[in-house]
Amino acid sequence: MRSGQRRRSARLPAVREVEPRPPLTPQELDEQISCAAAALVEGLSRSDLTSFYAALRTTELPFLCAQPEMKGLAGACAAILHRLGGISPAAGLAVENHLYVTGALATFPTGNTVLELKRREILDLIGGERLLVANSNSKVHADRLGAIGTLARREGQDLRVEGTAAYTSLATEADLLFLLTPIEGEGPALLVMPLRGNPAIEIGPFLFPRAMLDSDTRRVTFHKPLVPAGSMLYVGNDELMLQLLTFQLTWHQTLLSALYLGAAARAIEEGRLFLRSVQGPTQKPLAELDGMLADMGRLAIRYRSARSLSKAAAAAIDASIGNTLGPVALAEAFDQACAAKYAGGRCAEEVVTQVRRIIGARSFTGDHPLERLSQEVVFGPLGGEVDASIERRIGRRVLSETSFLDLGW
Ligand SMILES: Cc1cc2nc3c(=O)[nH]c(=O)nc-3n(C[C@H](O)[C@H](O)[C@H](O)COP(=O)(O)OP(=O)(O)OC[C@H]3O[C@@H](n4cnc5c(N)ncnc54)[C@H](O)[C@@H]3O)c2cc1C
Repeated sequence: MRSGQRRRSARLPAVREVEPRPPLTPQELDEQISCAAAALVEGLSRSDLTSFYAALRTTELPFLCAQPEMKGLAGACAAILHRLGGISPAAGLAVENHLYVTGALATFPTGNTVLELKRREILDLIGGERLLVANSNSKVHADRLGAIGTLARREGQDLRVEGTAAYTSLATEADLLFLLTPIEGEGPALLVMPLRGNPAIEIGPFLFPRAMLDSDTRRVTFHKPLVPAGSMLYVGNDELMLQLLTFQLTWHQTLLSALYLGAAARAIEEGRLFLRSVQGPTQKPLAELDGMLADMGRLAIRYRSARSLSKAAAAAIDASIGNTLGPVALAEAFDQACAAKYAGGRCAEEVVTQVRRIIGARSFTGDHPLERLSQEVVFGPLGGEVDASIERRIGRRVLSETSFLDLGW
């Protein structure tokens, strides 16, 4: 091996022994969410999220995945994101990426001993060193949907990774990168590598030069880092990999719905504040107009339906923790998460738009919360598994030989 290549090793730090922390009480969780939310508001007001991430790392919120007690983890992560999504869906999305990959890793009901040991090691590292994790599915925008921009090749037991991935949120703040990439001749693999300060991984420009900047979503290029074989979580085009990726996506879709519905909830609250504080032509608050009652009632019902789906999706993940999750139950949890993401993203976009119309142009003045929500909420339906794909998969199920009445929906 040439010495230039040796310097490009992407070895993970050693895991230190750390005392496990006791699980948070619901009150502590709420207090820590409030602390992170306040730091986010402050950071956004200065257009610098450094202090937000510093504050976030002092809380247990990003490290719930490393606690010994996993019960209720998805619900807790959803609560964090619902609050952050009411402030900035973009910044919340960066945190969501960390929470979903670590949450899925921590709770995947694996019966595989090697994977079990590997994940314990990585979770201990994340919790012990208080690390943040970015992830990339290696997708690139090409003339074919689903095109992959990276490839890993074996070099002895280790791996050289090459190529570019279009999407990596949290890119400049994360310490580690979870990368889904094919290994030549072997199939898809999940690798974990240091990201921050890694000279062989180039964190490129913002993918969206004028939108979602606070999601820190960037192109990432791999200049052949050498990833030790020990940093591979799993490789193979087999049933276990399919289950792992489906489980990850179940987490992702569920948490995305909570995030963007946080924006919808905040919009409804802003609508309430406006309608109660501004008088109409009859010198009475606009909130007393019958039309406003009907409009806001309609929006709240829309929000509650989507939020119920979102909560049910989180509850389905939480119910699986510590249990085995057979292929049928996994497919059901996945469908539920996809329905939640689909309904949640669309609901959030529509609710924010409707409330903006009610409040009017002042929603773009000063530091009005609706300005940011308006610009960022449109990404709800665009992220995760695309809506077009969800519709078709559910459509195929509906039009199969099974009666719709037997689906139990
Ligand atoms: C703000 C943001 C941040 C992100 N951050 C990350 C990240 O950190 N890590 C990461 O791995 N990924 C990230 N992603 C990517 C995300 O995980 C999805 O891969 C991505 O959003 C898919 O959108 P796309 O437009 O690239 O999809 P494409 O697959 O390119 O689809 C484009 C369009 O093609 C059509 N289409 C697609 N599939 C079908 C189908 N089956 N049938 C019919 N029509 C279809 C639809 O009209 C669809 O809108 C991020 C995405 C966004 C928007």
